[in-house]
Amino acid sequence: MLKLDENARRELWQRLIEAIEQYHKSVATMKVAPTLNVEELRALLAPFDFNRPLGPGEALDFAVEGLTKYQVHTPHPRYFGLFNPAPTTMGIAADALVAAFNPQLAAWSHSPWAVEIERHLINAFAARFGYEPEQTDGTFCSGGAEANQTALLTALTHHFPQFEKRGLRALPAQPVLYISAQSHHSFFKAARFCGLGTDAVREVATDGQFRMDVEQLAAQIKEDRANGSAPFMAVGTAGTTSGGVIDELAKMAQLADDEKLWFHVDAAWGGAAVLVPELREAVGGIERADSITFDAHKWLSIPMAAGMYLTRHIDILSRACRITTDYMPRDAAGMGITDPYTHSIQWSRRFIGLKLFLSLAVAGWKGYEETLRHQAAMGNLLRRQLKDNDWEIINQTPLPTVCFTDRTRPEGRSSTYLESIARTVVALGKAWLSTTRLNPEAPVLRACLTNYDTQPDDVAALVSALNEARNC
Ligand SMILES: *Cc1c(COP(=O)(O)O)cnc(C)c1O
Repeated sequence: MLKLDENARRELWQRLIEAIEQYHKSVATMKVAPTLNVEELRALLAPFDFNRPLGPGEALDFAVEGLTKYQVHTPHPRYFGLFNPAPTTMGIAADALVAAFNPQLAAWSHSPWAVEIERHLINAFAARFGYEPEQTDGTFCSGGAEANQTALLTALTHHFPQFEKRGLRALPAQPVLYISAQSHHSFFKAARFCGLGTDAVREVATDGQFRMDVEQLAAQIKEDRANGSAPFMAVGTAGTTSGGVIDELAKMAQLADDEKLWFHVDAAWGGAAVLVPELREAVGGIERADSITFDAHKWLSIPMAAGMYLTRHIDILSRACRITTDYMPRDAAGMGITDPYTHSIQWSRRFIGLKLFLSLAVAGWKGYEETLRHQAAMGNLLRRQLKDNDWEIINQTPLPTVCFTDRTRPEGRSSTYLESIARTVVALGKAWLSTTRLNPEAPVLRACLTNYDTQPDDVAALVSALNEARNC
C-alpha cells in the first residue's frame, strides 16, 4: 500500500505535474488571501478517520483543492508580504527529486555528492559575502531562526571556554548579548533555548533611521560590564524584518572588535544585496562578521526551507555541535571530510542545498543579479507612486521594503487606521500587505517586493487598492 504500482504511479505523477502547472498558470488570477474560518476547515477534516482508504488521485485532489482554497498565495505577484517568495521552478523540481531519492545528510559517506554540493554552495556564498572561502565553514539550516540559534551557540562556545563541557552554570558572570529593537525576535527564542533566558538579551534602541544606535550600544556594554555582566555577542541586521533597514555594519564590527564580542550579522533577507553591485555597498562590513545568517528561501526565491549559517571560524561548529557515537557510519574516516551532523543542530537532515544549487546553476549569478535589480526597481517605483498619491514613506533603505503612512488623514499615522487599510486591501482580494511598527510610536503599512514576477501593473494595482481602501 505504501508503494503504488507502476500504472498508478504514472497516473499520479501526471496529475501532480498538471496540478503544479495549473497552479502556476492561474495563481495570478486568484484572490491573494482566503477568508479565515476555522470551523469550516475542521468540518472538512472531520470525515477523515483513516478507516476508508482513498484512491491516490482522490487524495491528491483533496490536497490541491485545500491548498488552492485555504492559503495566502505567497507566489501571487500581488503578494507584498513577509519575505515569502514565489518559488523558483528549478527549486520545485529539486525538492521533488530530493523527496524521491531521500538522501540522508547526517553522514558524508551516505550522501557524498549531496554533502559536497552543500559545501560548494557554502564556499560560493562565503566568497560573495567577502569571506575567504577556504577559511569558511557553515551549514544549511531549516531557516533563519535555526541559523541565529547556531550563531548564539557558536558565540557562547567561542567566548566562554567552559561552556562546551560545563554549561552556563560554570560561567562566573551573566552572559549578555545585544540586538536592536528592530532585530528579529528569534534571538529571544534562541536565548531561551540556549538556557540564557530572555533577560540576557539587551534590546538597544534605534536611531532616527531605525538602525541600531551604535552609541547606545557602546553605552549599554559599558553599563553591563560595570554591573558585572559578561557581554559576548552583538547582532547587526542587514535588512530588518519590519523595515528592510540595514544597520551600520562596519561601525558595529569595529565596536565588537574593540569590545571582543562575537559579531553576528543577521542577513536573512537582505544578504542577497551582495549579488547586486550597486547594492553591495549598503551591506558593507558584513565581511567582518564572525558569523552570518542567510535565508535562500527569502530573496533568492528558493522554496522553503533553506537557511544558511556561515562563519569565518573554521573550528567553531565542530566545537559547538560535535558528538561522536558508535552507531554513525565511519566509512569515510581519514578522507578529510566533515559529517554534517557534527556541524549542525540537526542530525538526520534533508538535502536542503539542491534547490539552491539547481536554481543558481540555471539562473547563474547574472540571472539573480538581474532579478534582484528588477525587484529593487519595483520597490523604487512603488515608493514614487505612493508619494504621488500622498502616502508618506517612513523607512530609508535601498532594498525593496516600503513602509508608509497616510498624509491625507489626521488619523493617517494611527495603528488602528493603518490596520483597517491593510485589512480592507486584503479583503478586496487584490493584493496582500501588512502593518508593523518601526518603533512603538511608528506604526506603518508595509509592502515588500517578494515576487520576481511582480511588474509595474501589479505595483499600480496595489496603490490603487490602497487609494480605494482610504476612501472606503
Ligand atoms: C525571516 C527572518 C528570520 C527568521 O528566519 P526563518 O527562516 O523564518 O526562520 C530571522 N531574521 C530576519 C532578519 C528575518 O527576516
